[in-house]
Amino acid sequence: MISIHKRLYNGITRLLKRSPSEPRPSSPSVSVPKDLADAHIIPRAQHPISRKHIHRYALKVLYRLKDGGYDSFLVGGGVRDLLLGMTPKDFDVATNAKPEQVDGLFRNCRLIGRRFRLAHIHFGRYIIEVATFRANKAAAEQVSDQGRILRDNHYGSLEEDAQRRDFTINALYYNIADYSLVDYCNGLADIEARLIRLIGDPEQRYQEDPVRMLRALRFSAKLDFDIEESTQAPIKQLGGLLKDIPPSRLYEETLKVFLTGHGSKSFILLEHYELLIYLFAPSCKLFHEDNYREFVLKALDNSDQRVNENKPVIPAFLFAVLLWPAVDKRRQPTEKEPNAYNALARAGADVNQAQGQCVHIPKRTAQTMREIWQLQLRLEQMPRGKRGKQTLHHQRFRAAFDFLMLRVTLEPELQTAVDYWQEQQKHMPAQPHPAEESPDDRPKPKRRFRRRRKPAKPSTP
Ligand code: ATP
Ligand code: MG
Repeated sequence: MISIHKRLYNGITRLLKRSPSEPRPSSPSVSVPKDLADAHIIPRAQHPISRKHIHRYALKVLYRLKDGGYDSFLVGGGVRDLLLGMTPKDFDVATNAKPEQVDGLFRNCRLIGRRFRLAHIHFGRYIIEVATFRANKAAAEQVSDQGRILRDNHYGSLEEDAQRRDFTINALYYNIADYSLVDYCNGLADIEARLIRLIGDPEQRYQEDPVRMLRALRFSAKLDFDIEESTQAPIKQLGGLLKDIPPSRLYEETLKVFLTGHGSKSFILLEHYELLIYLFAPSCKLFHEDNYREFVLKALDNSDQRVNENKPVIPAFLFAVLLWPAVDKRRQPTEKEPNAYNALARAGADVNQAQGQCVHIPKRTAQTMREIWQLQLRLEQMPRGKRGKQTLHHQRFRAAFDFLMLRVTLEPELQTAVDYWQEQQKHMPAQPHPAEESPDDRPKPKRRFRRRRKPAKPSTP
């Protein structure tokens, strides 16, 4: 492993140590598409990405497109992470084949997306996303009053495709035709400098798609990169644009921010750039009261650790934690609602409803989250006998117990209940972790694999 890292690092270093006067390396033996003429091309010998590190399904897709007569590139996080010696989360492919042409090449292809049509090539649960080169021209034509892109189903050249991507480090292409790297936006230099830099005018790019602000912070946390000055400058001022993003899209983005192994770092960045309010409106102001911030960071550290140990984590637990400050503050029994269980249920429902205005939590996840909260009261009561047994066997016991342990940060006196349940668990079979106990709560593959008979013959572009 060390040698792979070293090789990758040396490769980039060697590449970037070329003096500016040195001609750009390009291999004359390689036929490059016409629109590559202006690109910085780094031949295979001068970069460290090897096919050994690319998932076999991604290679399969890349080669099938190439053999079908199309341009075929690996792009985005796959290239970026391989250059950094990291294991990519997924592999994205870019091509000049239109979605329908991609569909014609693969029996296991599904076309998805309204705003922009994409091809998903399914290999069981594994999906390779194939996007046709896209131009950003539509930005000028079909934007909302705030400048947000509403539709941009305009295909373009490879160069245009590079320009419409978000950050320079995400706009590097690996060409399966000759294994070279194509760099239109100085992405390699930014990888070397460890910088997140938007392509184009930052304000305009955030206005087109405000989610890029969250992505900038996410990549900064994940890669431990700085955010280049002009890329970070408008974030605080433009944060409000996130209010226009559909709550379901923000839900997906929130999962990527918090459940991929760098949640606590992301939280601190979101806090610094004042974006938490757009993700967790009901509890945002409370993060600085009592010990809620410490409680949240501890929970995020725990789930980061789980992710990094390849253990599963569930969205319900994450939201139960991040919304707890708001629920906790509202759950006190009142004259009107003297029953503590009902008061907590009401607080939970109110908070969930308020949360739905910014980030929509799917029903099943919200249900699990409420169960975790509701069980807190029972755990605090430490029931014995039949009720104690029922509690221990409750489907959400383990999640609720983990939650109770975290609450000790807020209420040290809960340690007694934690010790009690720890003792009780010694007398019963081990419970699975919340993420393991309810497979239905975990994100599902986007679509089921559907087998269709299709001619394997490509039509030339
Ligand atoms: P990871 O998969 O590790 O989260 P990634 O960079 O691959 O990182 P994806 O969401 O998989 O991120 O997107 C793939 C690529 O698509 C990105 O690298 C980027 O080039 C482009 N992209 C994604 N979202 C946007 C966006 N909002 N604006 C512009 N380009 C984007
Ligand atoms: Mg990706």
